[in-house]
Amino acid sequence: MTDQPISRRHVMQLGVAGAASAIAGSAAAAQDRLDLPNRAVGQPAPDPSGPQELPENQKIGFAVVGLGKLALGEVLPAFGQCKSAKLAALVSGDPAKARRVAAQAGLSADAIYDYDNYDRMAQDQRIQVVYVILPNSLHADYTVRAFKAGKHVLCEKPMATTVADCKAMIAAASAAQRKLMIAYRCFFEPKNLAAMRIMRSGELGRIVSFSSDNGRPSTLDDPSDQWRLDGPLSGGGALTDIGIYGINGARYLLNEEPVEVRAWANTDRNDPRFRETEDAIHWQFRMASGAIVNGSTSFSYASTSRLQAIGDKGRLVMDPATNYRGIQLMVQAGGGERKPGAGEINQFAREMDEMAEIVRSNRPIVATGEEGMQDVRLMLAILESVEKKGAAVRTDWGYRRAIDPAAAKG
Ligand code: NAD
Repeated sequence: MTDQPISRRHVMQLGVAGAASAIAGSAAAAQDRLDLPNRAVGQPAPDPSGPQELPENQKIGFAVVGLGKLALGEVLPAFGQCKSAKLAALVSGDPAKARRVAAQAGLSADAIYDYDNYDRMAQDQRIQVVYVILPNSLHADYTVRAFKAGKHVLCEKPMATTVADCKAMIAAASAAQRKLMIAYRCFFEPKNLAAMRIMRSGELGRIVSFSSDNGRPSTLDDPSDQWRLDGPLSGGGALTDIGIYGINGARYLLNEEPVEVRAWANTDRNDPRFRETEDAIHWQFRMASGAIVNGSTSFSYASTSRLQAIGDKGRLVMDPATNYRGIQLMVQAGGGERKPGAGEINQFAREMDEMAEIVRSNRPIVATGEEGMQDVRLMLAILESVEKKGAAVRTDWGYRRAIDPAAAKG
């Protein structure tokens, strides 16, 4: 990694306020160095046809890196529903767990890697894509190493914890001439796609207000939450874990970017969960059109996943908006109320098939590294504003998506 996030020891030395300042400061420094490439215009629209089921021997082989909650609970089972992707290898630091999972998945012992022999994947022709499902600050290192091994990468959100890491990941993909996709599963989820298309149709009129609330209670008893509450590993607690859904959701529903952000935190520092990271953060984005976004996230409030847009002709509510299952969309417009959008899909199978088609048939990438970096920059801008007690931070960096996710197949 070219730009290591601040170390845990550094955070302890600084204390909580200093840590927040260091994170915000590194955000500001990283943003100062920004030289975003102009997004290509006129790129072909994504292939509207979904993948057909391929014979096993023609499917794209994936190595799953990290056997934690998401990998074991959702990703590995989802391979059973993939049309173009198949599980080819596992990477884990726990040999017994890796052997058990490999046996269950029908993988041979030579398809198991650990974090030390990871780079040997370069010689393994069974693997085309590396799917990085590690704590946030480790994404960059394992992504860059996968590119050096000649593999394509599907990387979990948030893409990384610093802008410099995002840039290193994008540069490594380009140097290796390999594909990088960030795992924004909601880009391909039918109800989110229906909501995007309704927003684009003008049915709701001029969008005046947008709100998003995304959070859940966290616990230090769960190892999977321990790193999420750790400053350097998570990059920002609830914000980078679950608040990101509201940031990305506002951007893909409104189809525009924030030009300014203000944010405030509300954290009980006597709560042992929040020694290093903020609990609740509330932010406001001023969008280019003038629409105002109110967002919140928390690692102590009741589980919430909600997006709402209010226009001068109607409103749209998604609640839950970004869960793995059971997403609800409600539209009130023209004097009526309806619940549009197609039925449920396995979002992880859909996104792995998308990655497989990007590799197999050169399908254009909707969830690009630049898209992931934009969310990282916005989260760092939010943390900078928190540190500055709600002062406005400019975010009009000129980023525009090359491809509207609303054009992708659901
Ligand atoms: P987890 O803690 O359950 O799993 C992380 C894995 O990384 C564990 O197997 C752990 O052993 C391993 N690991 C390797 N080095 C580690 C280190 N230094 N410290 C801690 N763990 C280490 O986490 P998870 O819930 O599976 O999340 C992993 C990633 O997936 C995160 O980036 C998270 O944001 C993302 N995620 C995405 C979604 C989604 O819907 N797209 C959902 C959940 C998680």
